[in-house]
Amino acid sequence: MRYHRANPAIYYILGAAAAGFLVIYTTVAITGKISTFMRARKAAEAAKTAVVSSAVESEEEEETEPWMLTLVNKDNKLPDGYTRKLDFVKLRGDVWVDERMYPQLQQMMDDCRAAGYHPIVISGYRTIAYQEKLFNTEVRKYLREGYSQEGAVIEAEKLQAHPGYSEHHLALAVDILPESNQYPTQEQEKSDEIKWLMANCDKYGFILRYPKDKESVTGIFYEPWHYRYVGTKAAKYITKHNLCLEEYVQMQAQESSN
Ligand SMILES: [Zn+2]
Repeated sequence: MRYHRANPAIYYILGAAAAGFLVIYTTVAITGKISTFMRARKAAEAAKTAVVSSAVESEEEEETEPWMLTLVNKDNKLPDGYTRKLDFVKLRGDVWVDERMYPQLQQMMDDCRAAGYHPIVISGYRTIAYQEKLFNTEVRKYLREGYSQEGAVIEAEKLQAHPGYSEHHLALAVDILPESNQYPTQEQEKSDEIKWLMANCDKYGFILRYPKDKESVTGIFYEPWHYRYVGTKAAKYITKHNLCLEEYVQMQAQESSN
């Protein structure tokens, strides 16, 4: 009799224990699944945020690559074989630029036009032969004015670089002027097109390459029409700190040697 009484009680206990275990097991399993699900969701959201923020960052600040800072000036000749590495985009007529900066240039021109102005790129890539022609034309102009050969060359150097020493050989520099007045003079700084470019070019990775107050460093007279692509990160820094490319390149070299 005691067994008869005891047996059902044991079954109840075992049953209850089994049911309890099942409830606990199910709860743990569901909770686990939920937390796994939540973790996956959080990870997905984090990934989404990361993609968005890196996209925004790259739009704002494009990392500087060595080719963007190639320095060509009176002391730095165009690196040998430079042109062979390039791919060009033709803007119009005989105006060509390096394809790596073309999208930014086009965007800058589009936005300037959308603001109601009429800019035009009058010069981009120049071959060494073409630069030689420009330089000699400048020299002849001063010879006609009565300068000696030496004096004419000195004067020509203020406006035109010697072949091989012009930044235009890089295909990363452009001369931009108002469509209605395509003559490169310092007076152009007063035109709406040039004012807009000076105020906005850094956002597209361009700098005013030969500023008024940097003539002693660049060795070139103030040229409000000449813009050089250096990438947005460098362009914003150079513009903000009122530097010229020579000063920025020197600063970078000092930083990397420290
Ligand atoms: Zn130029």
